[in-house]
Amino acid sequence: MSATGKINVQTENIFPIIKKFLYSDNEIFLRELVSNAVDATQKLKALSRMGEATGDLTDVTIEVEVDKSAKTITIKDKGIGMTKDEVEKYITQIAFSGAEEFVTKYKDKVDKNVVIGHFGLGFYSAFMVAKKVEIYSLSYKAGSQAVRWECDGSPEYTIEEISNRSQRGTNIVLHIADDCEEYLDNFKIEGLLKKYCKFLPVEIKFGTKKDWVDQGEKDDKGEPKKTEIEVDNIINNPAPAWTRKPADLKDEDYKAFYRELYPMQFDEPLFHIHLNVDYPFNLTGILYFPKLSNKLEMPKDRIQLYCNQVFVTDNVENIVPDFLTLLRGVIDSPDIPLNVSRSYLQADGNVKKISSHITTKVASKLEELFKKDRADFEKKWDDIKIFVQYGMISDEKFYEKINKVALLKNTDGKYFTFEEYQNLINTNQVDKNNKTVYLYATNVQEQHAYIDAAKSRGYDVLIFDTMLDPHYINHLESKLKDAQFVRVDGDTIDNLIKKEETNSSKLSEEQQNQLKPIIEGTISKEQFTVQFENLNEKDAPMLITRPEFMRRMKDMNQLGGGGAMGFYGQLPDMYNLVVNANHPLITRILNEGDSEKQTALAKQATDLALLSQGLLKGESLTNFIKRSVELI
Ligand code: ADP
Ligand code: MG
Repeated sequence: MSATGKINVQTENIFPIIKKFLYSDNEIFLRELVSNAVDATQKLKALSRMGEATGDLTDVTIEVEVDKSAKTITIKDKGIGMTKDEVEKYITQIAFSGAEEFVTKYKDKVDKNVVIGHFGLGFYSAFMVAKKVEIYSLSYKAGSQAVRWECDGSPEYTIEEISNRSQRGTNIVLHIADDCEEYLDNFKIEGLLKKYCKFLPVEIKFGTKKDWVDQGEKDDKGEPKKTEIEVDNIINNPAPAWTRKPADLKDEDYKAFYRELYPMQFDEPLFHIHLNVDYPFNLTGILYFPKLSNKLEMPKDRIQLYCNQVFVTDNVENIVPDFLTLLRGVIDSPDIPLNVSRSYLQADGNVKKISSHITTKVASKLEELFKKDRADFEKKWDDIKIFVQYGMISDEKFYEKINKVALLKNTDGKYFTFEEYQNLINTNQVDKNNKTVYLYATNVQEQHAYIDAAKSRGYDVLIFDTMLDPHYINHLESKLKDAQFVRVDGDTIDNLIKKEETNSSKLSEEQQNQLKPIIEGTISKEQFTVQFENLNEKDAPMLITRPEFMRRMKDMNQLGGGGAMGFYGQLPDMYNLVVNANHPLITRILNEGDSEKQTALAKQATDLALLSQGLLKGESLTNFIKRSVELI
């Protein structure tokens, strides 16, 4: 008996709206229909465990088929199926009202990205790509009559009982719309299945493939021989690592799963964290620490978000803290609301809890690694520090949790915790204002002379050489008590850590005023400020330094940052030319009677200082070499 019915909706023809609204994202129809097939299969398994369903459960593989000539895509499951009444109820009434609610709620939203999951649209997402949908179904219930339902995208539908179906379960047949024929392509569908269904808990078959299989045959030498045969092309791994108990997994399993997630990644992860929470929210997952390059680039292999093993998105912004998006892996939680806008997500209580839980987990994992094997932790530090620093800067709670194990590295390659380092420098590197001065270098080669000078005073020099370091240093200054960070070439070493004045000057003020214009004449006045310092006579005669403040502003500007920093970024590079008033060479320049020789000597001395900073280039360098030869 066949009947037609009218779907009871207020919105006339919601299908065109569904179609138009979700056009850009219409590929999710496949995820929705396959996950319905999975649900139906899981329900049957549960009923069978409770003894409420009988029948064969050995093969419950879901099949997806593309028929190019008939222009259909079919999704077949061997799950619980539906009776005629159930189709009426679940498909025409409930699912439809869900879809209608969805449409009325979101049709005015211009920005399509506000909806991340589109969950809730479910079955009716089929109409995003199909001009007609058929359902063939037979319920698991004993004595059921099979049913056929058909709808062409208007509120009218046909439903009838049929007698030629003996297979339990449901076939959904999509008659693909003319403007969606791209979906009638095997590669396209396989790609979508791999994207959305890779870890669904029921096997999904998409056609067959050739594979080399050991079938017990032997070759000429009697060795086992593999034969190439057609086998089912199973898309998914129904039991991915994150759904299994950590106790059942070895390190190798975690690494294998990493390769499964990111087949194009050749680096091994440094370590992993297995997440497993069931109260007050549900969350499982595995996070990996990858080797990160020094650059803060947008990672392309990102954390993937799943909902009961259904892929949702790899854009986890607002769900995990920003700094954790540098990690890789999966998070699976049915408690993340998926059909709401992203701005709403940030305010969601569960999402906040999840985010802070993950932060805590990551921090305690790092602490555990530090305590368990300090040497190994140090070995990994250079690879994880950019991530840890990013977290410390952007997340106060993370800073509090992690600051006991965060490391500083010095120019000798030794690592210290903050506390250890404070103990190391807290007597020697304290200036007359009681500030502890942390010296740092950004390039051991280029700043070698300055590092050397610092070491000769018994000081220690840290190394900070990443893009993020200028920000990190600012942050540490605000956190560590009475700490001041200065770059080792920011000034003369005795000016960087100012103790009580000791050195007297060999040059009177009058002599300095006499010499100043001569030295200024040898360099560009816009770029260099000449200043006299009473350094040790064994120090260099002239030095070029770059004020810490100016340099930091410039560095930060490179990382991006508007406002005042943008302004500093535009300024030309400015340096100090420090003249060591106590150096014999300076006295010699002053006392040189022949003005031509005096200029040459002064020029030679400034060029030497420029040379040691790598600032002497082009014509100036050529002239310097010529002049040197003449002087020799
Ligand atoms: P949801 O999956 O969120 O319940 P859907 O719109 O995807 O919403 O599906 C609506 C209902 O239709 C399901 O809850 C289920 O009862 C029924 N259904 C859909 N697909 C199948 C299927 N393949 N087998 C059995 N029942 C199904
Ligand atoms: Mg569904």
